[in-house]
Amino acid sequence: MKVVIIGSGVIGVSTAWYLAKQGCDVTVIEKNSDSSLETSFANAGQISPGYATPWAAPGIPQKAIKWLFQKDAPLKIKPDGSIFQIQWIIEMMKHCTYNNYAINKERMLKLAEYSRDKFVELRQEIGIQYDDAQLGNMQLFRSQKQLDGMQKDITVLNECGVPYKALDPNGCVEFEPALANSKHLITGGLLLPNDETGDCLIFTQKLTKECEKLGVKFLFNKKITKIKKQHHKITAVICGREEFIADHYVMAAGCFSRDLMKQLDISIPVYPVKGYSLTLDIIDDAKAPRSTLLDETYKVAVTRLGNRVRVGGMAELIGYDLSLNDKRRLTLEKVVTDLFPNSVDLSKPNFWTGLRPMTPDSTPIVGTTPIHNLTLNTGHGTLGWTMCLGSGKYLADVITGKTPEIQIDGLDISRYNKV
Ligand SMILES: Cc1cc2nc3c(=O)[nH]c(=O)nc-3n(C[C@H](O)[C@H](O)[C@H](O)COP(=O)(O)OP(=O)(O)OC[C@H]3O[C@@H](n4cnc5c(N)ncnc54)[C@H](O)[C@@H]3O)c2cc1C
Repeated sequence: MKVVIIGSGVIGVSTAWYLAKQGCDVTVIEKNSDSSLETSFANAGQISPGYATPWAAPGIPQKAIKWLFQKDAPLKIKPDGSIFQIQWIIEMMKHCTYNNYAINKERMLKLAEYSRDKFVELRQEIGIQYDDAQLGNMQLFRSQKQLDGMQKDITVLNECGVPYKALDPNGCVEFEPALANSKHLITGGLLLPNDETGDCLIFTQKLTKECEKLGVKFLFNKKITKIKKQHHKITAVICGREEFIADHYVMAAGCFSRDLMKQLDISIPVYPVKGYSLTLDIIDDAKAPRSTLLDETYKVAVTRLGNRVRVGGMAELIGYDLSLNDKRRLTLEKVVTDLFPNSVDLSKPNFWTGLRPMTPDSTPIVGTTPIHNLTLNTGHGTLGWTMCLGSGKYLADVITGKTPEIQIDGLDISRYNKV
């Protein structure tokens, strides 16, 4: 089967890998000059099924109002002039009920756990290295209120059978010895020992090369602007004067998937949620983190990636704006210097922003569409790095008519056909 994939981010490349393994003739079309130069470029580095939690959660509407007036708040909303932004926010708020949260959490967790298992398999199969570590991730609490709130998460982790360990400040330092320098700030932590870390850019570009060895063709610097359809079938995707024809097409264009799908009269609620990261060289190994920790106060992750530290997080709903906000950089700097003082070189910051392709229920859209030869693999929001291999394998099985190895109801677009 001939398959064209639109988008060479971590999701498109993961899909290409599994399709090629199943004998498909795959072409990936990408508007940039290489894989992984958009949202998959410098994310926070967590492969974290343990934190596979919907943003749309009970209590979020109240918190969101508080955050609107708070300095250093993890969330910022500015009207982007579109009705879609308002619809998306309303739809997200509707998902903040206990019932919807439980459904979405289960879908995310299943896919994320499956994906993590695929990372283990892939490392064994091709020995891929990407500044990765398998040491577990820790959520770090600075206040008693946050520590008390941990019970809610523990209930969900118990229900889902995810291993965890609640830590006191000494336990946190045992896990991350460099926290000895900031122990006075810590009230406790929650360790997820099965979570992993790694650099998504290195991974995606290495997997691109591995895909090429299997015969996948990557066409870079080609922006698909038009999709031709006849009845319920795509007949070609178009870039300038070039037409690309296949038996099957996969939409993996991240935040840009929605615009392309509009041409086909299919509305997918994927909104660009802006985040920031700061990558810094380590200058004192003993003072730097070994793995990832998530500072609950700022909702910022601090991740060790080889001889660098990546600090990332924040959420802004302000459309496709990619300007770098210096206040955000200062907050990221504050988190890393609070927790790991004198560990990194702040004089050479690599400051980046990216747009998470986010659905209102926080779960990706993976699966078939009303168009017979088009499937979607998009909308992975905060956890596309975590879910990439699971989504890629699941979708490859759907496309080639195999029974997927995991059963997840409602992962495809049908759950949104009203939006
Ligand atoms: C600050 C931040 C921190 C994050 N931290 C984490 C984390 O710790 N863990 C985690 O799991 N996830 C994290 N994420 C989320 C994760 O990075 C994303 O979910 C993931 O990268 C999305 O991958 P993608 O392939 O769908 O999108 P992209 O990487 O954006 O890929 C889509 C590709 O499609 C191409 N494209 C678009 N339109 C066209 C067109 N018309 N023609 C041709 N090509 C096109 C684009 O150029 C792009 O290369 C974070 C995100 C941000 C912003």
